[in-house]
Amino acid sequence: MAGIDALVVSPSPDLVYLVGYSAPQLERLTTLVVYAEGDPVLLVPTLERARAAGSPAGELVEIEAWRDEEDAFQRLRALLPRAVALAVSDRMWALHVLGIQAALPEAKMLAASTVLSKLRASKDQGEIDELRRAARSADQAFDRITEEAMAGRREADVARSLREHLADTGSDEALFWIVGSGPNGASPHHEPGRRVIVDGDVVVLDFGGRAGGYCSDIIRTVSVGEPSSEVREVHQIVRTAQEAAFQAARPGAPAEQVDRVARGVIEKAGYGDAFIHRTGHGIGLEEHEPPYIVRGNAAPLEPGMTFSIEPGIYLAGRFGVRIEDIVAVTEDGAVRLNKAPRDLLVVD
Ligand code: ZN
Ligand code: ZN
Ligand code: ZN
Repeated sequence: MAGIDALVVSPSPDLVYLVGYSAPQLERLTTLVVYAEGDPVLLVPTLERARAAGSPAGELVEIEAWRDEEDAFQRLRALLPRAVALAVSDRMWALHVLGIQAALPEAKMLAASTVLSKLRASKDQGEIDELRRAARSADQAFDRITEEAMAGRREADVARSLREHLADTGSDEALFWIVGSGPNGASPHHEPGRRVIVDGDVVVLDFGGRAGGYCSDIIRTVSVGEPSSEVREVHQIVRTAQEAAFQAARPGAPAEQVDRVARGVIEKAGYGDAFIHRTGHGIGLEEHEPPYIVRGNAAPLEPGMTFSIEPGIYLAGRFGVRIEDIVAVTEDGAVRLNKAPRDLLVVD
């Protein structure tokens, strides 16, 4: 923790990562204080003490509790006798950041990600196993959804089925469920709604959940009934881009190189303007976390990094195609954690 006296971590994936405590974000202050030197302390509201002590954090760190009558920020101040530089959670509420600032006006604050994101970006084998388990559930949910007819159903109904399939195949919870049919597929983060899917639609399914704390995220694009030759062609371009980007993922390659390769395929096919987002994002305890696979990120990929590769083509008012897999960088290349077929599937 070069240049930092203490990390101050509120309920967030960082807290789960550091001490295994999955706590709710509340107006009452919960913070883990990790010193550059010395043993960490977890400061919690009195009524949360039992929950904290019963979590893995109970074995790992000393827990101190503050009462509702007290000023939690003064208690925190007492834990930080010489705090000149604090790294605070990226996800800490403004309410708490401002409270800390008022109690420790001399402290310089920066984002905890400056310290933690490099650590969190490289997954160990246990973490990759969890991500693979989450990915398997997403793959199976996709298999199940393709066995159901889509024509005649609302997007929101298909989305509900996706959530159930995730739950039934080993995910602890579903996190998101995008079903973009026909023209709605041209909006990458479309909220599934009342549109009834009809024969001839292209449907983008982008969904994921959490298993054992780790996230899944997969996209497949299907055709309801026989696709047009244009749909086949666009799908093939995205698939080729996704494959080329996967082949480019290896240790030492700059993250932006993976984006460049995917974009190159789509540009060469004449659809460059229709690929309107970065190629991917890291994934772990969070759905989106470093490393970002985007132009400008020259940081080299390292073994253990896990991220999505998800190029897309969006034709406004008509349809969209996107294909996404989670991959893990190995010693000499990368492996896909998702195994669901990437061919253009025709469903009823
Ligand atoms: Zn997204
Ligand atoms: Zn996704
Ligand atoms: Zn994604």
